[in-house]
Amino acid sequence: MRRLGKNWWIWGAVASIIFQALVVLIYPVLIAPRFNTYKPLANASIKNSILSMAHANGIPVNDVYEVDASRQTNRVSANVSGFLGSERITLNDNLLNRCTPEEIQAVMGHEMGHYVMNHLGKTLLFLGVFFSIAFAFLNYGLQWALARWGEKWGVRSITDVAVLPLAVLILSVFGFLTTPVTNSWTRAQEYEADIFGLNASRQPDGEAAVDLKLGDYRKLDPGPIEEIVFFDHPSGRTRITAAMRWKKENQASVVSPTPETPADAASVPSR
Ligand SMILES: [Zn+2]
Repeated sequence: MRRLGKNWWIWGAVASIIFQALVVLIYPVLIAPRFNTYKPLANASIKNSILSMAHANGIPVNDVYEVDASRQTNRVSANVSGFLGSERITLNDNLLNRCTPEEIQAVMGHEMGHYVMNHLGKTLLFLGVFFSIAFAFLNYGLQWALARWGEKWGVRSITDVAVLPLAVLILSVFGFLTTPVTNSWTRAQEYEADIFGLNASRQPDGEAAVDLKLGDYRKLDPGPIEEIVFFDHPSGRTRITAAMRWKKENQASVVSPTPETPADAASVPSR
């Protein structure tokens, strides 16, 4: 900060976004494999249905992996990660053990939505703006506090090491005040992925059943303000409503295929 002068906060934001991008790139390759074991998914029918959905949506993958996430949690999850040839699909074993094939397809449709809509890239751009505002707030907050109380505290300037606790306090306040903003950013993307997943998997009942399972750790029916402030994913109520709305508008294609001509109808036994 001493060397950078009064524009130090801009460089702080730049350094933060570089660190964030590095973590996103390095985590799946170097860090996650330290804690868990990844192996190719053995179940061929589940694997093929996932690969088929991936290819239909332009995701260049040929392998599906399973990870023993049950060592740490019983939450169901999966992801599509990588870029430029390192793309891979990973299901955690809780998803495989706790869910039906229809539910697994619904979850995978959602995860593919994140990938196809480039949510990771968009989030890095969002964080670039967010970190810039955070550091501007930090710079302003430090100047303001030191002008008022600096002498009393014995903190000489913004470049005094003793300013560190104050910096942590100011950033914590910023993080607290902006919680609804960051939560709403991710929640909006999660909702987009839900809609993509319904269209890709065509499994509204599977989606709704998984949403109920997520009720293990996410309140299913919060108030509207509660959802905006505290929820980084849509509530179970929001998600199940979307799934049932999709089902209602797609009755013909979900329930049973309707015969195309009366002649076909005669040859098809009624169900
Ligand atoms: Zn998601």
